Amino acid sequence: MINRRAVDTGTDLAGIGVSPGIVIGRVLLVEPGLSVKKRRIADDAALAREQERFRAAVDRTEEKLRQVRRQFAEVIADNAAIIDTHILMLRDGMIYDRTLGIIVTEKINAEWALDQALCQLEELFARVDDAYIRQRFLDVRQVADRIFSELSGQETLPEEIDGKVIVVSRDFSPEDILQMRGRAGFLTEVGGETSHTSIVARTLGIPAVVGIKDVTAQVSHGDLLILDGSTGRVCVNPRPELLEYYQYRQQQYQLQNLEVAQYAQLQAETADGLEVRVEANLEMAEEASQAIESGAAGIGLFRSEYLYLAARDNPDEELLFETYRNLLAMAAPFPVTIRTFDIGGDKQVIDRTGMATGFRRKMEKQWSAEANPALGLRAIRYCLHEPAMFATQLRAMLRASCFGSLRVLFPMISSFCELKKVQDTVAAVKERLRADGIPYDDKVEFGVMIEVPSAVAIADTLAGEVDFFSIGTNDLIQYSLAIDRGNEQVAHMYEPLHPAVLRMIKHAADSAHRAGIEVGICGEMAGEERYLPVLLGLGLDSFSMHPLAIPYIKRMIRHSRAASVQRLAGRLLACASAVEIREALQDYLTRHYPVSWSLHV
Ligand code: PEP
Ligand code: MG
Repeated sequence: MINRRAVDTGTDLAGIGVSPGIVIGRVLLVEPGLSVKKRRIADDAALAREQERFRAAVDRTEEKLRQVRRQFAEVIADNAAIIDTHILMLRDGMIYDRTLGIIVTEKINAEWALDQALCQLEELFARVDDAYIRQRFLDVRQVADRIFSELSGQETLPEEIDGKVIVVSRDFSPEDILQMRGRAGFLTEVGGETSHTSIVARTLGIPAVVGIKDVTAQVSHGDLLILDGSTGRVCVNPRPELLEYYQYRQQQYQLQNLEVAQYAQLQAETADGLEVRVEANLEMAEEASQAIESGAAGIGLFRSEYLYLAARDNPDEELLFETYRNLLAMAAPFPVTIRTFDIGGDKQVIDRTGMATGFRRKMEKQWSAEANPALGLRAIRYCLHEPAMFATQLRAMLRASCFGSLRVLFPMISSFCELKKVQDTVAAVKERLRADGIPYDDKVEFGVMIEVPSAVAIADTLAGEVDFFSIGTNDLIQYSLAIDRGNEQVAHMYEPLHPAVLRMIKHAADSAHRAGIEVGICGEMAGEERYLPVLLGLGLDSFSMHPLAIPYIKRMIRHSRAASVQRLAGRLLACASAVEIREALQDYLTRHYPVSWSLHV
């Protein structure tokens, strides 16, 4: 047993904890996206030298892998086979011959050729029916990553036996995080709690801390780190007793998760009988079954743009249809809310292959000219700007609607006319499907996200036009308080408890109920236990969140009383400032929920 008081918990670095969990691991410093640069090479001697660089990098990679295998011979008995496989893959024709070939045929540098080879292999693997073999692409990527590091002269870490690597960079895109599976955690200089990068980290359960100024200069490759994704604390090369303390905290955290997991499958019902729906936010369709297992009574927000971000080129109708059909089937009989592409803003399609075609390339150009991407060609604006792509997505969704219970959600609606244009597009797509004799479910519901202040102001008008509202507090806060959600410099001003925010939620909820439609929330606030009493009291019917939060939120709901939280919301709505609201809410949390839940606002 550890004497907690005796341990100095002081830390070296402090940032914003955006994805909970404690990890202890070694630093891997990276510059995502910058390591692969294209260089054209004209003369044959130089091409031969590039090939030689590649061969030498493979040799060094092999040597290092063998060294790791020797070094950890006793402890890695189980993992030895993986290292052996990686060693074999190094010289497999797939990577080796292919890359050497591309250097010569395309007259390019080794890094770029390896990247091209990787893209080709990804496509080949994606086409394989067998899921196990498909997954082996991850090994190919890991092997290629090692060669990349050797080519760039960046030292790779010693192979961590248990994969505990904390990746550190100035910034990561949401897409980088999707590819970060297997990493223990990450740390960045920029970012905020509701940036999309942080959101993806929470969904994947990767502990993360963002907003540590100059972190890349403050840690070195291979440093041992303790990262606490709940508090934002980071300890660099900790003393043994601090390490021991955090190992203890790690165990406590895991135990707590196990304990709360028992709430996952219980009804989301207050102690006095008010039932609400708790659903999951997903970025990837494959996670639907896991979300349902975590207790989700549906997918409240499927961020469909991630499929787009992950693809090399525009996903076609068939790929979209297959994805949506599988998603609906996996979640059935629960409803699935697919949001149309919310692309743009901090989710732009960056083409790392240099091979994008058509409007992808066009959009990249347009986006790079935007001084203010959050206020630019994003979400529904982008879809209306690219009507053919929008129609394709809607068509794929409607075709898939026969395989489950579909709701379609439109992001960033800011005016009635915009909604009308969307409705016209939907009508045209339905008409076309009928003409083509393709069935779709006529009961599909259509809803709008309430995430722009103008939508709140005209909520009564919008409510008359749609089947449901979903309040996106991430953007609603960003746009109403004028705080860039991804900017760590103003992150402290990002205030979910601002009176303006609570009053807007209340107005949207009342407008929806007056029109007889459902209103839910899918912003990050929904997954924060401390805000649950307020949101429940404001009258929301459904709460959609990252799957790991579901048991925690259900536990809160079951310990709440509807009549009481409604009175609380009434009191908070009358407060003049966020400070006042915070104090009143803290007082309420302390009086109504067990102290051991550590609820702090
Ligand atoms: C939101 O804005 O609250 C939301 C859920 O959408 P996103 O985070 O994807 O912008
Ligand atoms: Mg949003």
